[in-house]
Amino acid sequence: MLRTKEEYMKALSKMKKNIYFDGEKIDRLDERQIPCINTIGTTYDLAEDPEYKDLMLVKSHLSGEIINRFTHIHQSTEDLHKKQDMTRKLCQKVGGCIQRCMGCDAANAIYNVSYEADKVNKGETNYHENFKKWLERFQKEDLIAACAQTDVKGDRIKRPADQADPDMYVHVVEKRNDGIIVRGCKVHISEASVSDEILVVPTRALREVDKDYAVAFAVPADHERVIQSVTIHNLRKREKFERGFMGGATDSYIIFDDVFVPWERVFLCGEYQHGGVLALLFGLFHRHSYSGCKPAIGDLTVGTAALAAEYNNIQRASHVRGKLAELIMITELGYAAGYTASDLGKPEVYMPGIGFIPYGPGSYIPNSIYCNVGRCLTGESVYREAEIICDLSGGMPATFPHEKDFLNPDLKDHLYKYITRNQKIAPENAAQFWRYVGDVLCSASGGIGQVGGYHGGGSPVMEQIAITSQYDIEFRKKLIKDIAGINDGLNK
Ligand SMILES: Cc1cc2nc3c(=O)[nH]c(=O)nc-3n(C[C@H](O)[C@H](O)[C@H](O)COP(=O)(O)OP(=O)(O)OC[C@H]3O[C@@H](n4cnc5c(N)ncnc54)[C@H](O)[C@@H]3O)c2cc1C
Repeated sequence: MLRTKEEYMKALSKMKKNIYFDGEKIDRLDERQIPCINTIGTTYDLAEDPEYKDLMLVKSHLSGEIINRFTHIHQSTEDLHKKQDMTRKLCQKVGGCIQRCMGCDAANAIYNVSYEADKVNKGETNYHENFKKWLERFQKEDLIAACAQTDVKGDRIKRPADQADPDMYVHVVEKRNDGIIVRGCKVHISEASVSDEILVVPTRALREVDKDYAVAFAVPADHERVIQSVTIHNLRKREKFERGFMGGATDSYIIFDDVFVPWERVFLCGEYQHGGVLALLFGLFHRHSYSGCKPAIGDLTVGTAALAAEYNNIQRASHVRGKLAELIMITELGYAAGYTASDLGKPEVYMPGIGFIPYGPGSYIPNSIYCNVGRCLTGESVYREAEIICDLSGGMPATFPHEKDFLNPDLKDHLYKYITRNQKIAPENAAQFWRYVGDVLCSASGGIGQVGGYHGGGSPVMEQIAITSQYDIEFRKKLIKDIAGINDGLNK
């Protein structure tokens, strides 16, 4: 059953209070959370809009019912293409991150890894069936899940079991007949404060000695002994000159203070090799999501840069053309990488040293090289994109007078006169545009969005490791040796 935004908000209103913000315990529907709820709520509103239906609605392979694509397990390359395009369109609409992809990406990763872990355990575990039960409800009730992957990680150089404090990565502290007890803290978890559920997966490759850290599970976001400390990223309030869409975002520290998880919600427990694959696979699906959202951010950046040039009446200057071309190249190369990753998607994963091997129960996994090159290119370009907007805008967005000065009879006419740069642009429209550029370039939310665009889905170095460990560099060395006339028999 598809849910409406109102039904989603009603469900949030019934959840137990376990969220702290700036020293107080807050309700999920606290007014400061509403901009974020409006952003993610767009995924409910647009599912009913005929223009978006084809991208947003899909038949569940489990129930045969029509579901929201954010709860879907990809069954074909077409599904991967549509997920990429849906993400781009929705992010264009809300002017940034649509915030619902993490649960979808984690669900796809767990769906595959739980199947493989059961296979290796030869029927002793029931992870995949457990996960399918969770998934059926997730789809039927059209729920939102956050994905909690990033651990606090303590000393970066030390791996989980080598940390001075064993709680630096989320781990199992007790196994009971009816479930497990987990302890630790996940950080930077987007939209956990407005989610129904939290899916927990490991952060990194694990050794046998780290097996207590190889744990994946789902808990309701208000589950007992789950505590959230949230940061809320809202733009400066507009009182008189409203934006067309006013979104927001939240990120939580999620503390698991000896949390009980019943076995039917546990999808991995101790299988350290699968724990590492799950970490990589969530990263892969999430980097594929970036091939939709980053091109959308690119679309917004191109629009902002082009308007900044126009409003400054410099649109015909040669350096403007070069900069617009650069932004378009980043945007469309990121999209093209994701498109290719979708097109080459298969029910297979790449194992370094072996190549592609069948993986999971048959759902589609995007191509790893193309997901990683696309995410790395667009992630590393975040500050370059901001630099171009800054360059073409000049200082205007940084020092733009506040709203009420434009209503004050002593000031109003002076301000509109002196912000005029292009006679063809009404000063009221110019003012509205520079307020928007200030939101993007000079606000706390804008800065947080840039850090998220750079590190979210894994810092560029993580993509570089994936790319160089999976790309056939030996083959390229052999090409050169053949051309150069070197026959040392080393590169087959
Ligand atoms: C806005 C935002 C939203 C996010 N949303 C989510 C989310 O919803 N879910 C989620 O799970 N995560 C989320 N993340 C987390 C994101 O995936 C991480 O920020 C990213 O993986 C980097 O991890 P970190 O922040 O711990 O950085 P760090 O690991 O602290 O990185 C700092 C530096 O240390 C280096 N470094 C780290 N380890 C080593 C090592 N062993 N050896 C050498 N150098 C090392 C890094 O390369 C980097 O240069 C989000 C992040 C942001 C900023």
